[in-house]
Amino acid sequence: AYNGPSYEQILATRKNHLTPNLVSHFKKPLVIHAGHMQWLYDHEGRRYLDMFGGIVTVSVGHCHPKVNQALTDQISRLWHTTNIYMHPKIHEYAERLTAKFPGNLKAVCFVNSGSEANDMAMLMARLHTGNQDILTFRNAYHGMSPYTMGLTAHSTWRYPLPGINNGIVHVMNPDPYQGIWGGAACRDSPVQTTHSCNCTPGSCEAGNAYYNELEQTFKYSLPRGKVAAMFAESIQGVGGTVQYPKGYLKRAADLVRANGGLFVADEVQTGFGRTGDHFWGFEGHDYTPDIVTMAKGIGNGFPLAAVVTTPEIAATLGLALHFNTYGGNPMASAVGISVLDIIEEEQLQRNSLEVGTYFLKCLEELQKRYELIGDVRGKGLMIGVELVNDRETRAPLAAPHMLDIWETCKDLGVLFGRGGLHGNVLRIKPPMCINRADAKFAVDVLGCAIANTLAKQK
Ligand code: PMP
Repeated sequence: AYNGPSYEQILATRKNHLTPNLVSHFKKPLVIHAGHMQWLYDHEGRRYLDMFGGIVTVSVGHCHPKVNQALTDQISRLWHTTNIYMHPKIHEYAERLTAKFPGNLKAVCFVNSGSEANDMAMLMARLHTGNQDILTFRNAYHGMSPYTMGLTAHSTWRYPLPGINNGIVHVMNPDPYQGIWGGAACRDSPVQTTHSCNCTPGSCEAGNAYYNELEQTFKYSLPRGKVAAMFAESIQGVGGTVQYPKGYLKRAADLVRANGGLFVADEVQTGFGRTGDHFWGFEGHDYTPDIVTMAKGIGNGFPLAAVVTTPEIAATLGLALHFNTYGGNPMASAVGISVLDIIEEEQLQRNSLEVGTYFLKCLEELQKRYELIGDVRGKGLMIGVELVNDRETRAPLAAPHMLDIWETCKDLGVLFGRGGLHGNVLRIKPPMCINRADAKFAVDVLGCAIANTLAKQK
C-alpha cells in the first residue's frame, strides 16, 4: 500500500519545484508508486493496464524480476569506475548487443539517453563525411538537446533558440494518411484499413512521389548536393506512429549515400523486437543503416542508450579523447544484458508480432463501428489510432473530444499515449509481455470511451 506524501503535497511540489511545463498526462496527473509487468498502481490502490510503457520505454515489463535481480547483484558489487578501468560487464554487453546487428555494424558507444545517442550520431556523421547538412523528416522527433532539437521537427518541442536549425533540412514527411500523395495501401502493416491511393503494394506511386520530392531537396537546398546524413525513425513515434510507404527508406538511403552521406536509423522506439517481424525496425524496410541509435526499451527504464556503427565510422571519435561519465556503467550494462536475455527467453519479439497483429485486427473491427477512427496502423506493438472529425477531410478530432476519450480510458483502467502534431493519435506501445486478453480489454475500453464521448455530444 502507498504510504507517501498526499496527492496535494506532491502536486504542490511539482508546481513549485520542478521544471515548468514538465509534460503531464491527464487533467489530474496520476501518482504511480508501483508497477509489475504490464500493470501500474496509483496511490489509491487502483490498478492500470499500461499501454504506453512509460513512453515506449518499459520493454520487458515493469520491475521484471530478472532485471531486478541483475541490477541488485550488480549494485551490491560495483556501481561505477567511469570506464577508466576495464569492467567485464560493458565488454560482455558490447559483444551481446553488436551480435544483434547485420553487416559491419559492430562498434558500439554507450551513452545515457536517446538525445545523447543522436547527438553522437550527428557528430560522427559530420566528422566522417566532412559534410555539414543533415536531413530529417518534418514530423520527426529525435531529442531535446540543443543539437538534436534542430532535428526534431514539431514546433511544440522546440525552444526559440537562434541557430538550432544550423545545418538541418527538414524534408516532406512521406505520411501515407495525412500526406498529400497518400500511400496507405503500401505501408507495411497487417491491417490496411485506409486506402488513400490507387496503387498496388510493391509499386507505390505515392512512394515515388515522396521520393521525387526528396530528390528535389538535394537539388535545391544542399550546397554541392552533399549531405552528412539523413535521420529516420523506422516508424515515427512521437509523430503519431507514422509509417512510410514501403520501399521509401531504402531508396532514400541509397540517394543519401550516393551524395556522400550516411543513413542513421533512430531505433529508440522501434528496436528490441517491438515491431514483431524483426528485431530492428530498419530490417522491415529492407536496408542496413550506417549508424543506429537506441534508447528507451534497451534498458527497460534504466537510463541507458547506445550508438552502433561500423568500426570505420566509429574511428572518427579517435580525433579527440572520448569521455562519457556514465555511459555503459556496470549497472546499465547488467540491465542491458538481462533485457536481451529476457527478450530471447520469453520470445517477446514473437509475442509482439502475435499480440500486436491481434490488437490491430480488433482495432480494425472497432473502426468499422466508429467514423471518428480515421486510421489504424502500425505493426507489432507499435500501434497508432488516428481520431478525426471527419473521414473525408481527415481533420484531427477536436482536442476536447480527444482528451475526453483519453481520460475516460484512464478512468476505466487503461493508459494510452497520445501523439502527432495535434495530439489526435492514440499511441499503443505497451510492455511487450502483454497478452491477447489485455489487448481485447484495451480495445473494449476504447470502444466504451468513444461511445461515452459521442453520447455526450448528442
Ligand atoms: N528518438 C526518438 C525516436 C524518441 O522517441 C526520443 C524520446 N521520445 C528520443 C530520440 C530522445 O530520447 P531521450 O528522451 O532519452 O533523450
